[in-house]
Amino acid sequence: MTTNETHTSLIMIFGATGDLAKRKLYPSLFHLYRKGKLADKFAIIGTARSPWTHEEFRANVKDSVLTALGSNEQIDDFASHFYYQPHDVTDSESYIKLRNLAGELDSKYELQGNRIFYLAMAPEFFGTIADHLKSDGLTETEGFKRLIIEKPFGHDLESAEKLNAQIRQSFAEEEIYRIDHYLGKAMVQNIEVIRFANAFFEPLWNHRYISNIQITSSEKLGVEERARYYEKSGALRDMVQNHMLQMVALLAMEPPIRLSTDEIRSEKVKVFRALRPIEGEEVNNYFVRGQYGPGSIDGEKVEGYRNELNVDPQSNTETFVAGKLMIDNFRWAGVPFYIRTGKRMTAKSTKIVVQFKDIPMNLYKNNHDQLNPNLLVIHIQPDEGITLHLNAKKSGQNMQTNPVKLNFSNEGSNGINTPEAYEKLLYDCLQGDATNFTHWDEVALSWRFVDKISEVWENTTSSTFPNYSSGSMGPDDADKLVEKDGFFWWNVTDLDVEDCK
Ligand code: NAD
Repeated sequence: MTTNETHTSLIMIFGATGDLAKRKLYPSLFHLYRKGKLADKFAIIGTARSPWTHEEFRANVKDSVLTALGSNEQIDDFASHFYYQPHDVTDSESYIKLRNLAGELDSKYELQGNRIFYLAMAPEFFGTIADHLKSDGLTETEGFKRLIIEKPFGHDLESAEKLNAQIRQSFAEEEIYRIDHYLGKAMVQNIEVIRFANAFFEPLWNHRYISNIQITSSEKLGVEERARYYEKSGALRDMVQNHMLQMVALLAMEPPIRLSTDEIRSEKVKVFRALRPIEGEEVNNYFVRGQYGPGSIDGEKVEGYRNELNVDPQSNTETFVAGKLMIDNFRWAGVPFYIRTGKRMTAKSTKIVVQFKDIPMNLYKNNHDQLNPNLLVIHIQPDEGITLHLNAKKSGQNMQTNPVKLNFSNEGSNGINTPEAYEKLLYDCLQGDATNFTHWDEVALSWRFVDKISEVWENTTSSTFPNYSSGSMGPDDADKLVEKDGFFWWNVTDLDVEDCK
């Protein structure tokens, strides 16, 4: 569903003093407000432990918007819609106060009983909050009720199932919006358009013409202050179970019969069902784990993971994963999808490289000319765009070839107005459009896949950790994983949009 209608709603943010709310949610809400996409009839209740007043909260909201966007036009009016209620998530009395405030704001702003509950808090509270929202009467409302839930959704399939069963006591599946913020990114949303709106891609989008697909999501940052969470999660749970597998699903799915939430989700689910399960001894043939050691990033020396704050000096947690995924269906038989993601790598970059097969006969090889494979590169972040790598004739009398790049940079055309992922996702939720959120079936199948890998890794201590230097592109074994199939990782920094202009 996509309409330009604005909806009136109360948005209740749990964890309103937290990092996510400050850095992402308030600036995104402000953008929506400035664009006229939030009706005048909206109110936000922030809740957290801090004993703030409404005024203190508004000052904080203004500060976060000014820091993120440097804008102050209409900021006072925007902030006047914000209310604060100190809260303890386990205490019914807190919820009753929230319910009363919600009721007052409902009348004041004529919100028609529409309520969005945004859980921007540590995941151990998700289930408890959902329970209280129902038992303390906050979900008893005449309008819609929707629950936005942050990642991670569970720690493995078992805990995700438990959490899901608990939340489903208070909200129906179609009222649950599980955030995967990659699905809000402009170029991730573009994958479907590139595939299904271009006559020259879709006919080639299969095992006959594509040799392999590579998805890299690399960060320069280390674990920062997140070690308490990350030590238990690692890159596999933090990045692969959700973001990486979601990108694979969008790249691999069959064309949906229409662009409705249900149809798109059902095609994505089929991809997860076709994913070859990797388990037991096979895990080390298909997956490589890594942990960063000391090294240098942008010329500055940095510590290894085991020396970071709150990290066990013997930690077995992976900060890097490379994997080869096989999708066992007609379209993708034999085509590897390589994924790799990690911290403290050479560059901050998320890119998809679709490598096409070589043409059946290279007429130019006789001229000692190596034809470069055709590539479609989708730049997800920080650059946004598409690059097509082709071969063309060199200028002059000879018939030698030259690689050329056709480049579309999203930045150049509408970059200034490219909304943040969170802005898009908040707007989608206001519209009742759950397409870019993950359905339970997707979550369950991706945990089932990932659990088999973590089971092996958790039961065998890596003897090689740390096995890549900070500032590199990961362990050598990640290169070997691809090389044994006759391929190599495309260097993400060589593929940057700027290099292609
Ligand atoms: P945070 O630690 O900065 O904030 C947590 C918030 O919860 C604070 O407002 C705190 O007051 C509140 N809180 C904690 N215990 C409470 C209790 N007992 N009762 C009431 N309030 C309580 O966390 P964050 O970084 O904002 O992350 C929130 C969620 O968003 C997490 O699920 C995280 O995984 C997810 N997330 C965060 C980011 C990010 O950029 N920060 C990105 C992606 C996902």
